[in-house]
Amino acid sequence: MTNPHGRIHNFSAGPATLPLPVLEQAQAELLNWRGAGMGVLEMSHRSASFETIIGEAEADLRALYGIPEEYAVLFLQGGATLQFAMVPMNLRATGSADYVVTGAWSKGAIKEAEKLGATRVAFSAEGEKFSRLPAQSELQLDPKAAYLYFCSNETIHGVEFGAEPAPPEGVPLVCDSSSDFVSRPLAIRKYALIYAGAQKNAGPAGVTIVILRKDLLARTPPRLPLMLDYKVQAENKSLYNTPPCYSIYIVGLVFKWLRGLGGLEAMAQRNAAKARLVYDVIDGSGGFYRGFVRPDSRSKMNLTFALPDENLDRQFVKEATANGLDGLKGHRVVGGIRASLYNALPPESAGVLADFMREFQRKNG
Ligand code: PMP
Repeated sequence: MTNPHGRIHNFSAGPATLPLPVLEQAQAELLNWRGAGMGVLEMSHRSASFETIIGEAEADLRALYGIPEEYAVLFLQGGATLQFAMVPMNLRATGSADYVVTGAWSKGAIKEAEKLGATRVAFSAEGEKFSRLPAQSELQLDPKAAYLYFCSNETIHGVEFGAEPAPPEGVPLVCDSSSDFVSRPLAIRKYALIYAGAQKNAGPAGVTIVILRKDLLARTPPRLPLMLDYKVQAENKSLYNTPPCYSIYIVGLVFKWLRGLGGLEAMAQRNAAKARLVYDVIDGSGGFYRGFVRPDSRSKMNLTFALPDENLDRQFVKEATANGLDGLKGHRVVGGIRASLYNALPPESAGVLADFMREFQRKNG
């Protein structure tokens, strides 16, 4: 609240808060990008300037994750939701795909894939209200699966994988990383495909980033609609048609901001420290705050919890909002409170939330 722009603490699950230096740079470059005489909103996607912008965004992402040459990086439209369909359309020419169902988003993904072909549930925590992750030994894996799919962070339920599930030998691992993208380092070579809608950790809405191993492109069946075909998108470097230019530009600025802060290892530590501030209050509250998720499965991005009753939930959100803490109401499917602590949320904001929670309990506990 002491922010010079009058900005408040934004705990929105997405679209979400963006790094202030990124917004300030975008503001400064709005009318004239690097002397081009025009802003990014106005320039051709075929211009040398935009080629630089998309090229730098890709290079910075490659540097952050250490993405090897044998992977393509795509900037697509249609949101993460379109990837629910593109993944099976492109990768499951025949056969069946395995899904690990750990929350609303992996459930949504398998529902979409079911419309298009065969799927199997390798694990589902739905019977336990999506309150935990599976152990590797609980996964019922098909050794012939077209791929094994999981969602690394369930934005609504608040469970996040620490280590990725291990697929059977030769089965490609596919991940929806929309809400923990670039929040920590990943061993990219364990993955065949990772995708993320940008509007949580990586930038504004409108662009979805796909990292995929190029050998998978051989699986893409003929006669897919152009925009749904990874091969077309890869061959045209995401420029088959007009891409979401401005979103790609902002995502690129976010990647540079991350590199400037020390990259993903530094960001992972910062995110862990932020989450700890809030989980410590929950765990020290004597049951006043109840986490929805088993501690070993907790998300560092979306922290879900509830107060002793729904009236207190409502009062908490109301008082928080009045104090400049916005976006804390839980998703309607889960209820309670959800605090999203994405990369760009300043550590001070997590501290302000922790203090607010302690004070709220003192008054109402
Ligand atoms: N997957 C996850 C994990 C999400 O959090 C979301 C959006 N909240 C989606 C998929 C769907 O994303 P989009 O709105 O970009 O289609």
